[in-house]
Amino acid sequence: MSAPMNYLDGNAAAGELSRIFAMDITSAEGQCANCGAKGRFAEAHLYMQCPGLVARCTLCGHVLLRFVNTQQHIFLDLRGMTYLSLNTTQQQDASN
Ligand SMILES: [Zn+2]
Repeated sequence: MSAPMNYLDGNAAAGELSRIFAMDITSAEGQCANCGAKGRFAEAHLYMQCPGLVARCTLCGHVLLRFVNTQQHIFLDLRGMTYLSLNTTQQQDASN
């Protein structure tokens, strides 16, 4: 018997993350700092039942990103990713 799926995909983070990123990072490619898996942020498993957002690696479950929005501060933890790569040409094409 499998556990119920209690996460969305990374696309669900687009609204919250647009508060601090000028570019849509859901289309960015990142690398998991734990297992080295590379993939689009939109493919991450996104947990929204916590005080903020938690994105986890689809392969090993390692936390890739934590985002907490309080009344006065936004806390962003990206240390679960080795890098996050944004394609600037795609962003420009999308706005034209
Ligand atoms: Zn991983």
